[in-house]
Amino acid sequence: MLRRIDLRGGSARSGAPVDLAAALPRAEFDVEAATHQVRPIVEAVRTRGVEAIVEFSERFDGVRRDDGTPVGITVPREAMDEALAALDPAVRAGLEEAIARLRATCEAELESDVVTAVADGAVITHRKVPVQRVGLYVPGGVAPLVSSVVMNVVPAQVAGVPSIALASPPQKTHGGLPEPTILAACALLGVDEVYAVGGAQAVAMFGYGAGPCRKVDLVTGPGNIYVTAAKRLLRGVVGIDSEAGPTEVMVLADDTADPAYVAADLISQAEHGTTSASVLVTPSEQLADDVAAELDKQVHATRHTERIVTALTAQQSAVVLVDDLEQGVEVANAYAAEHLEIHTANASEVAARVVNAGAVFVGPWAPVSLGDYCAGSNHVLPTAGCACHSSGLSVRAFLKSMHVVDYSRAALEQVAGHVVTLAEAEDLPAHGAAVTVRFAR
Ligand code: NAD
Repeated sequence: MLRRIDLRGGSARSGAPVDLAAALPRAEFDVEAATHQVRPIVEAVRTRGVEAIVEFSERFDGVRRDDGTPVGITVPREAMDEALAALDPAVRAGLEEAIARLRATCEAELESDVVTAVADGAVITHRKVPVQRVGLYVPGGVAPLVSSVVMNVVPAQVAGVPSIALASPPQKTHGGLPEPTILAACALLGVDEVYAVGGAQAVAMFGYGAGPCRKVDLVTGPGNIYVTAAKRLLRGVVGIDSEAGPTEVMVLADDTADPAYVAADLISQAEHGTTSASVLVTPSEQLADDVAAELDKQVHATRHTERIVTALTAQQSAVVLVDDLEQGVEVANAYAAEHLEIHTANASEVAARVVNAGAVFVGPWAPVSLGDYCAGSNHVLPTAGCACHSSGLSVRAFLKSMHVVDYSRAALEQVAGHVVTLAEAEDLPAHGAAVTVRFAR
């Protein structure tokens, strides 16, 4: 089912290096291509606000009331309370466990201010402050990702963000509101500013402000390629966390791996949609064959066979054959997967050599779906190679820092000569004068 890419004999060590960026599988329709489709949507929301949002909701989500009038974008508080009251107790228990574990890591990761006395009377404080208003995106096209409510909201709350808005696509099956489980999770976490808006129009609504939704300072959250392209277009107008687009899993495995586990994990991410990428990297042809046999078996026993088969047979999914684990790590670092699983002997040692990945899952007991829900890690992660420069969502994404400079007269006087000299060296004498004026009297 998975096509094979044979990189054996093509490592830097063998003297025949291959261009890994070109050789490794990636989707044909990429974020850059999607920005061309998304630009008119973003522009329409900027100029026409809610009216444009309502039109796009009808076009892409098919929502309109039975009487033909447009559905509003604000979710009433009562709808969230009702959804929470009706929530399946087992789902509630799962959400509460996910919240508790993620909150524990977020609280542990909170950094305190750093105060440094660089000289007598010269104090620099590196102060951490929360972003003041954030817009959180929760996907709802293919599947209602209630877990993304948790992954967005918990770090924002732990960081101390005072104003939180959340958007998720309107559903025709729910009277134009987001899925009830998503609304219930919002109520559980105490988020009451929620919009029934999906896709690029939601990102634009957050970025520019529209109708009842005030402009935010930062947009976070995962989404499909249109959501991701809109985040790329809006970057600068607002902050974004990372480009957390269509999901990817890379499994680096040797012949100690259990092919049934590997196949199940490749399938689990393909289940997100036809644009998902599932990539196996292995030096073992035997494992590749065994995983292929397992895929054939497992794919037909699961519920969403069609979209899984489409994702696994598409250009972005493959088995990559390598000479050994050393080349395997080279491939993993070049690909910079959103999720990287290590199924090898000494998996922790191999994992320690990974420098580019959104999140790393070590050994057979840490499947990627654990991270999707309940590991205590965050599932909003950079995709399409962005893990070489961006990080997954965490409490840090919701904090900014500022240097606070506090000098006494004596401390300034001590360093004044250097300021004046450096200002002259840059031909900016007024900079120097702003210091000397203080000691002229
Ligand atoms: P979504 O909410 O991201 O997208 C649905 C919206 O897309 C719709 O509301 C609609 O407005 C818009 N849309 C649909 N077709 C369009 C078109 N032709 N042009 C413009 N806009 C269009 O939900 P989804 O589609 O289910 O995608 C969720 C995605 O999130 C998946 O790709 C999944 O892999 C990804 N994901 C990523 C991460 C991560 O951290 N990287 C985590 C979870 C999920």
